Amino acid sequence: MKIGIMGGTFNPIHHGHLVTAAEALNQFSLEKVIFIPSGDPPHKDYREEEIAEHRYLMTVIATSSNSKFFVSRIEIDRKGKSYTIDTLKELKKTYGMDTEFYFITGADAILEILTWKKTEEIISLCYMIAATRPGYNLLKLEELKKDLSGMTGNNVDSKILVMEVPALAISSTDIRERIKSGRPIDYLVPEGVSNYIFKHGLYR
Ligand code: ATP
Ligand code: MG
Repeated sequence: MKIGIMGGTFNPIHHGHLVTAAEALNQFSLEKVIFIPSGDPPHKDYREEEIAEHRYLMTVIATSSNSKFFVSRIEIDRKGKSYTIDTLKELKKTYGMDTEFYFITGADAILEILTWKKTEEIISLCYMIAATRPGYNLLKLEELKKDLSGMTGNNVDSKILVMEVPALAISSTDIRERIKSGRPIDYLVPEGVSNYIFKHGLYR
């Protein structure tokens, strides 16, 4: 079985995330994609548990119409900072060693991989899919692969896969700023997410 893992703060989830997950599903013939909202929310205007629960619920709402999209509470329930390696190990335990995991990240996020805890172990447990975002320079990724191969003594080329997604300049930061300044967020997030945000007065 091939399973995609989409980690993020999803504060809020938007069409950039959804298009990326859908593209990975298709390009790598995945059985499903599990969205995993992080347990470490960056928003300071809310109580942590409160915004974590909102982020989780918005992710459920955004993914509910896709039969291959699922949402996991694994990091939300763990509380505090979650490490990708711990999440991957837990998923391996749940799904068995035969399952191949494809960790989907934006190309910006994969460049931070070198600072992650236990990079080598992560690479040994899953494939990484780097979704190219607007303005992203592939040269940087090639450099990163070289650094990683040198560091681990293994060629990581086959484990880090590049995926082109239609240019989407959508970000959660921009969506939060738009709400704060009273600008529209229509078509940037699913309608249900937009309704949820306004119903609960988030990001004002
Ligand atoms: P923020 O602006 O708060 O950082 P974000 O829009 O980057 O939010 P995250 O929850 O941080 O969203 O992202 C989760 C994952 O989705 C990361 O791997 C990120 O690189 C990726 N991602 C975010 N936005 C896009 C997009 N528009 N296209 C493709 N991938 C994206
Ligand atoms: Mg981000």
